[in-house]
Amino acid sequence: MTVDLRSDTVTKPTPGMLEAMWSAKVGDDVFGEDETVNALEQKAAEMFGMEAAIFCPSGTMTNQIAIKCFTNPLDELIADQTAHVYRYEGGGIAFNSAVSTRLLNGYRGIITAEMIEPEINSQNIHYPNTSLVVLENTVNKGGGSCYTLDQIKPIAQLCHDRDLKLHLDGARIFNALAHTGDKASDYGKYFNGISVCLSKGLGAPVGSVFLADKKTIAYARRIRKVLGGGMRQAGFLAAAAIYALDHHVERLKIDHKHAQIIGEELSKQSWVTNVVPVETNIVLFDTAAPAEGILAKLEAKGIKANTTDTHRIRFVTHLDVHPDQVEYVISQLAGI
Ligand SMILES: *Cc1c(COP(=O)(O)O)cnc(C)c1O
Repeated sequence: MTVDLRSDTVTKPTPGMLEAMWSAKVGDDVFGEDETVNALEQKAAEMFGMEAAIFCPSGTMTNQIAIKCFTNPLDELIADQTAHVYRYEGGGIAFNSAVSTRLLNGYRGIITAEMIEPEINSQNIHYPNTSLVVLENTVNKGGGSCYTLDQIKPIAQLCHDRDLKLHLDGARIFNALAHTGDKASDYGKYFNGISVCLSKGLGAPVGSVFLADKKTIAYARRIRKVLGGGMRQAGFLAAAAIYALDHHVERLKIDHKHAQIIGEELSKQSWVTNVVPVETNIVLFDTAAPAEGILAKLEAKGIKANTTDTHRIRFVTHLDVHPDQVEYVISQLAGI
C-alpha cells in the first residue's frame, strides 16, 4: 500500500469534480467573460463577507498580489518568523513589492497585538514605513495551529487604530474554521485581504482566490496580469474549485480525525521524542535518530512524508488518505 502524507496538495480530482470540470461553461477570463470564474469569485467573496475576489493560479500569487496591493516600495510588513509569505515565496516580498519584513517570534506561528505593537515603526526617515500585518491561519510551519477569531480581533483593532492593512494567508483557512467553529462570513470584517487555497485540503487541482474590496481587486487584476497570471478559459479550473467549496469543506473534519489518530499512535513510539499537539490536518513530530533515515524506512513501507528539520518529520492528511490507509500507517509505526 502507498500512503502519500507529504502534503495536502497531492490530491487528484474526484469523479464528481471531473464531471463538474467537464461540463463547465467557459470564456476568456482576461476579458472578464468566463462565467464559471465569475461565479467562483462571487461565491468565494460572499462566503467570507468580502466585496470581490480574483482567481489566481497559486496561493503564492494571491499572497504576493495582496502584499503589492497593501504596500508601497520602502514599506515594511510584520509577520511571524514562520510565515509562508516570508519563508516559502522565494523572496517575493522584496522582489515584487520592494518591501522589508519585520519578523516576530510567535507561539507556533501565532502572534498577538501585544507582540505587534512595539514593532510598528514611528514616522522617521530612518525607518521603513510599517504598512501591513500578515497572519497565517492555519500556520503551516506551526503544525496546523489555529487562530480563533477572538485572537484576531485585537490585532484587527490595532491595525485599524494604527492605519495598517491586515492580510490573511488563509491557505488552510477552512481547516482553521473546522477546528475553531468560527464562521467564514465573520472574517471579512477583520481583514483587508484574504488568500484562500483551493488546491490544498479542498482538493481542487489548481488555484487560489484573493478576496478584498472592489477597488483593491480592480488593482489586483492589473498586478495579476503583470505577473503573467491572466488565464483564459480558466473556468474548467474554477468549476473544480466551486465543486470543492460545495463538497469538500465539511469533510475536512475527517482529515483532522485521521491526523489525531496518527498523532496519538506516534506518541507511543520509542523512536519518536515529541509530537506537536495536533489541531488540524498536520502532524509534526521529532525523532531520536536523524529524520532522513526515518523517512527512508517509512518510504520502504510505502509511507511518503517530508522532513522539516534534521530531526523533525511532517505528515499531512487529506482527501486522498482513506481510513484503511490510516489503519495501515498505524500498523506500520512500531516496525520503524
Ligand atoms: C501552500 C501555501 C501557500 C500557497 O502555496 P502555492 O503552492 O503557491 O499555492 C500559501 N501559504 C501557506 C501557508 C501555504 O501552506
